[in-house]
Amino acid sequence: MLDFTLSPEQLELQKKAREFAVNEVLPVAWHFDERDEIPLSIIQKAFDAGIINADIPKKYGGMGYGLMEGVIVTEEISAACPGLATSLFDNSLGFEPIVISDNEFLKKKYLPKIVKERKRICFATSEPTMGSDVAGMQCRAKKDGDDYILNGTKYWITNGGIADYMTIFATVDPEQKHAGIGAFIVEKEWEGVRVGRPIPKLGQRTSNTAGISLKNVRVPKENVLAEPGQGFVLAMKTFSRTRPIIGAFAVGAARSAMEYSIDYAKKRRAFGARISNYQGIQFKLAEMYQKVETSRLLVLKAAWEADRGMDPTITASISKFYATEAAMEVLNDALQIFGGYGYTRMFPIEKLLRDTRLFTIYEGTSEVQRIIVSGYLLNYYKSIMPPIDEVPILIGESDLFDEKKGKGAVTAWRCPVCGYVHYGDEAPEECPYCFVGGKAFKKVWPR
Ligand SMILES: Cc1cc2nc3c(=O)[nH]c(=O)nc-3n(C[C@H](O)[C@H](O)[C@H](O)COP(=O)(O)OP(=O)(O)OC[C@H]3O[C@@H](n4cnc5c(N)ncnc54)[C@H](O)[C@@H]3O)c2cc1C
Repeated sequence: MLDFTLSPEQLELQKKAREFAVNEVLPVAWHFDERDEIPLSIIQKAFDAGIINADIPKKYGGMGYGLMEGVIVTEEISAACPGLATSLFDNSLGFEPIVISDNEFLKKKYLPKIVKERKRICFATSEPTMGSDVAGMQCRAKKDGDDYILNGTKYWITNGGIADYMTIFATVDPEQKHAGIGAFIVEKEWEGVRVGRPIPKLGQRTSNTAGISLKNVRVPKENVLAEPGQGFVLAMKTFSRTRPIIGAFAVGAARSAMEYSIDYAKKRRAFGARISNYQGIQFKLAEMYQKVETSRLLVLKAAWEADRGMDPTITASISKFYATEAAMEVLNDALQIFGGYGYTRMFPIEKLLRDTRLFTIYEGTSEVQRIIVSGYLLNYYKSIMPPIDEVPILIGESDLFDEKKGKGAVTAWRCPVCGYVHYGDEAPEECPYCFVGGKAFKKVWPR
């Protein structure tokens, strides 16, 4: 059964998120962007409105929403301000490793506090010298009795400067790569934890991004979320569930760029007519909508897979790199439709474009997504079509499909190198085109 309709509850949630986006987020977005500052009051309001943390299971005080609800809400907030959307939904990235782990103690210890006490939690794999190559992390976790001592620097951490808790990935031995990585829940107030200045950025300036220094930070045994050897898989499983959210950020940003463009094109006049009258503009708008719709479908499919307990890794990657690249194309066309005004800070496209540019970088760059998807295709994907040297390209034999003679009246053999097809009971001694020996020929008809 395939159904593209949202449930009444999802529609209600979408409406609530839309109202929050337009009434609370949109009016403050440029002010805080200009100041390069995160609007903490909006984060508090989002907590109160149930816009964030809704995906924490009910058992621990959350609303128990699935990823489908997550992407629906995310698109709306990102349409108003992608930077703030990043900071709002970063809590989900921070607590997702706890939610998907089987560590009941840490779930009970932290998830209710995140909901009730409005605590913020960030996620840290990246470091100053490493981002894409997660297995290459250097931050050390050294066993000391039952505890671990962390030493190292995490960098680029969204909400790093404002988080109460931190999901830190660190390694017992960098030489061990994946096999050495564990995950640890660290509290900001613990001795040895310091956060750096907010990193100045091109866009997403309403989102806090900072480095975290860990110097002899003692993590008690009970705060080990994943033992060394299990942290890398936990990080990757987390990304499989959070990458569709980045796709939803992109859908939201692209959708609002498209909506602003439609409005502007209908009002702006050139050469005696509205620019929306010109096919050059109309085609841009059509392609924008095509990209928004296809991106959203991919994002929803990834969320649907995750909510059904399927492994969403591949669809999550495809949705992320498709939607984020499509959004950049939409933003670029939108800026073109706005002409000179698109390039100014008095119209919304300039900020949307700066904010959207990040989407192809964090949570795995577009290149990393291509590595994941091509790895799947080359190693696991099951083809429907026969292997290339068994494809029955049957040209030039008239009796082949003569129904009276029946299938099999003529046998066809194909050269595996140049593709020549030989008809006869036996394969030829050699290929008349490329001279490959007949033994290599494959029987391709009848099948
Ligand atoms: C604003 C912001 C917020 C962020 N938030 C977080 C956060 O909350 N938590 C966190 O842990 N991290 C976070 N990051 C880090 C982010 O995930 C990394 O920046 C990203 O993974 C890329 O890593 P890098 O910057 O080190 O680039 P590098 O890994 O150094 O890559 C540089 C370039 O080389 C390409 N490249 C690398 N390897 C290959 C390859 N094998 N084949 C082809 N191309 C390759 C990359 O795609 C990229 O284009 C954030 C980053 C930013 C900018």
